[in-house]
Amino acid sequence: MHEHNHEHELHEAVDRLKESGVRITPQRHAVLEYLINAEIHPTADDIYKALEGKFPNMSVATVYNNLRVFREIGLVKELTYGDASSRFDYNTSKHYHVICESCGKIVDFHYPTLDEVEALAEKVTGFEVSHHRMEIYGTCPDCKTTH
Ligand SMILES: [Zn+2]
Ligand SMILES: [Zn+2]
Repeated sequence: MHEHNHEHELHEAVDRLKESGVRITPQRHAVLEYLINAEIHPTADDIYKALEGKFPNMSVATVYNNLRVFREIGLVKELTYGDASSRFDYNTSKHYHVICESCGKIVDFHYPTLDEVEALAEKVTGFEVSHHRMEIYGTCPDCKTTH
């Protein structure tokens, strides 16, 4: 996508870490940079594999530890789907996900929040609604062409 946008996002993310009193190690910086540039909602293992060449001393546990720190600050969202391993999403703005049933790829889908669904659910059930979760499933363009 646009390099300069990612550069700006990285600066903002680093500022947020600093404000939260989190020490920025080279590994932590690299994990953050990978997350921001990746458009694939990587697993901890994906991140580890991408960075192990650069940081031979890094373990998967280090990656998990960094992801936990980012999640606690609110920089990343952890996405859990059944028994598959968690995927991590940097994008903090609200969006929905379209998920490929064939390869498991998750693509961001921006659409105005469906506030009226929450309002209707409150009205009909008397619940105080906190949030909703919606996923769209199908076959991605890559998988469609190989079939
Ligand atoms: Zn696919
Ligand atoms: Zn996403």
